Amino acid sequence: MTAHSNSQRLFEEAQNYIPGGVNSPVRAFKAVGGNPLFIKSAKGAYITDQDDNAYIELINSWGPMILGHGNTHIQAAVAKAIEDSLSFGAPTAIEVEMAKMICGMVPSIEKVRMVNSGTEATMSAIRLARGFTGRDKIIKFEGCYHGHGDSFLIAAGSGAITLGQPDSPGVTQGVARDTLTAPYNNLDSVHEIVKANDGQIAAIIVEPVAGNMGCVLPAEGFLEGLRSLCDEEGIVLIFDEVMTGFRLSKAGAQGVFNVQADITTLGKIIGGGMPVGAYGGKKEIMDYVSPQGPVYQAGTLSGNPVAMAAGLSMLTQINEDETLYADLSKATEALEEGFQANLDELGLGYTMNRIGSMISLFFTEEHVVDFDTAKTSNIELFGKYFREMLNNGVYLAPSQYESLFISKSITTDAVGKIVEANRIALKAIHYN
Ligand code: PMP
Repeated sequence: MTAHSNSQRLFEEAQNYIPGGVNSPVRAFKAVGGNPLFIKSAKGAYITDQDDNAYIELINSWGPMILGHGNTHIQAAVAKAIEDSLSFGAPTAIEVEMAKMICGMVPSIEKVRMVNSGTEATMSAIRLARGFTGRDKIIKFEGCYHGHGDSFLIAAGSGAITLGQPDSPGVTQGVARDTLTAPYNNLDSVHEIVKANDGQIAAIIVEPVAGNMGCVLPAEGFLEGLRSLCDEEGIVLIFDEVMTGFRLSKAGAQGVFNVQADITTLGKIIGGGMPVGAYGGKKEIMDYVSPQGPVYQAGTLSGNPVAMAAGLSMLTQINEDETLYADLSKATEALEEGFQANLDELGLGYTMNRIGSMISLFFTEEHVVDFDTAKTSNIELFGKYFREMLNNGVYLAPSQYESLFISKSITTDAVGKIVEANRIALKAIHYN
C-alpha cells in the first residue's frame, strides 16, 4: 500500500474549514470510498500527490489539460502576461485575438463572449435564449450536466448524480418548472414535450456527446433531429461543448457530427487550465447580449488577460497541430483495445463507450445509451476498480458518471501501463 499520510492530514484539516474538505464535490472520493489525494504537482501524463506518490492520470483537470500537464508554451505565455499586471477590467488586445481564434475554429460561432467558467457560460446562454425568443421554458436531457446553475440541477449528471443529488434542494419550484427533461437519445420524447408546450420552449440544451453520465454517444440522427425540430419551432439549439469543445475536433462535436448549434457553450480546454468559459453563436442572437442588446450579462474578471494568454496559447497549439486529434484517438483506441482484451481474457462482458479521446468503462453488460442504462452500472464494483487502479498507479475520475480524458502525454508506454493496471484491477475485484 502506498503512503497517504500527508493527504490524510490535509483532508482532516480541510474539513474544518471547507464544506466536505473540497472546493468541488466529486473530488471528495465519496462515491468510491477513501480520502482524496491532495495534489502537489503534475507534469506530462503524471500527477504527484503530497506524499510524493506519482500516478498516470486520466482526469486532466476534468478535461482542460489535453496537451498534458506543464505545457511549456502555455506556462511561458502566462509568465509573460503576468509582467503586465494580472487584471485591468478593461478591453485588451488579447481578447480580440481570442475571440477571432474561437470564431475561426468553430464555424457556428460568429460572435463570442468570454466568461469565467462553464457554469457561467450555460447560465448566460439560456438567459440569452430566453431573451431572444421571449419564451421561458427549456428542455435538457436526463444525465446531462450543464454546471450548477439552478435551471440545470434537474436530473443532472456528473457530481450531482455521483453524490445522489440530481435535483438539488435550494432550486425553487418556479425555476424547476421551467426546466423540462427528456431521456438522452430519445427524439420522440422531445417532440412530445415540444408539442405539449407549444410556443413556450426557448431552448434545447444538450451535450452533443454526453460526458457527465459517463461517455454516451448521440444515436444516429439524434443531433440532426434536434436541429430540424429547433428550426421548425423557432427554438434556440444550444450545444454545451464545455467538455467536447476542442476535445473532439477543432470545432468540437459540431466538427465531428456536422450539425451546427445556434449557441455553443465552451469551457475547460479553452482556458488551458485557467478559469475560462465562453458562449458564442449566430450574430443575430449574440447581438442580444448587453451592451449591444438588452440581455444583461457581465463579469469583473471576464476576459482576464492572464487567463486569455493561457487559453490563446492552448488554442494556437491545437490549431497548428495537424495530427493532434488523430494521435489522441489512436492512443485512446489502443486503451480501448487493451481493456477489451482484458475483459475477454477474464470472461467479463462490460460495456465501453468511446469517441476520440473520451472513453468510459461501465460495469454493466447493457448498452449505455442514456441515463437509465448508465445507472445500470454496478457502482460498488466501480469503487473497487477505482481503488485498485489507484493502487496500481492510475488516477481515474472518482466516479462512474464521468468520462476519462486522454491527453497528448499518454504515449504508448503510458497506454501499456494503464492497460496492465486495468488487467490487475479487473482480476482483483472479480477473482481475489
Ligand atoms: N457543461 C458541461 C458539459 C460540463 O461538463 C461542465 C463541467 N464538468 C460544465 C458545463 C460546468 O463547467 P464548470 O465546472 O467550469 O462550471
